[in-house]
Amino acid sequence: MKKGKMIILSGPSGSGKTTISHYLLSKFPELKFSISCTTRSIRKNEVHGKDYYFLSTNSFISKIKKYQFVEWEEVYPKLFYGTLKNEIYRIWKSNKHILFDIDVKGGLNLKKQYPNNSLSIFIMVNSIKILKKRLMTRNQKNSDYANLNIRLNKAKEEKNYAKLFDFILLNIDLHQTKKKAIQIVSDFIYE
Ligand code: 5GP
Repeated sequence: MKKGKMIILSGPSGSGKTTISHYLLSKFPELKFSISCTTRSIRKNEVHGKDYYFLSTNSFISKIKKYQFVEWEEVYPKLFYGTLKNEIYRIWKSNKHILFDIDVKGGLNLKKQYPNNSLSIFIMVNSIKILKKRLMTRNQKNSDYANLNIRLNKAKEEKNYAKLFDFILLNIDLHQTKKKAIQIVSDFIYE
């Protein structure tokens, strides 16, 4: 199988990663989104098999035991997220490059496993206050609001890893961030 490339978008929850990932997918037909597995509950507007594969904890753990993940993390307490090896093969087999929206540890893990054909981008905002506002206005289930502080604390910790990424994109003005993202990604996939 031909080995394609990987674009890894990481950064704190609320940094705009998902918006930028959707934008890049709409601009580059040669990219395909890596659908992760998660044990968190499905949000309004999310679709199983499109945004995530929503799994029970038992089923997730069984896949860990069978070594089916290329990487997985307990991103928040008792909430597991992971990328299946099969997901990577599926996308490369279709002759596309892969776009990941993944947490910071998972992103660095993938970069370590695929150093020569991956591009890692850390997306961040310049204040925790902005993150808080974005997370609060997000259309989420009530139970997710209970996780707000957990997400904010994680964001503070994740900032320390930014320097380990190939690029840091400071998302202050979304229009500008999208423009820069297009530039970085096209330099990488057409090099
Ligand atoms: P959310 O619950 O907001 O969809 O995602 C929470 C965090 O989990 C985000 O930082 C997201 O990028 C990350 N995430 C999504 N999929 C994966 C995955 O497959 N592996 C890892 N390590 N993190 C993931």
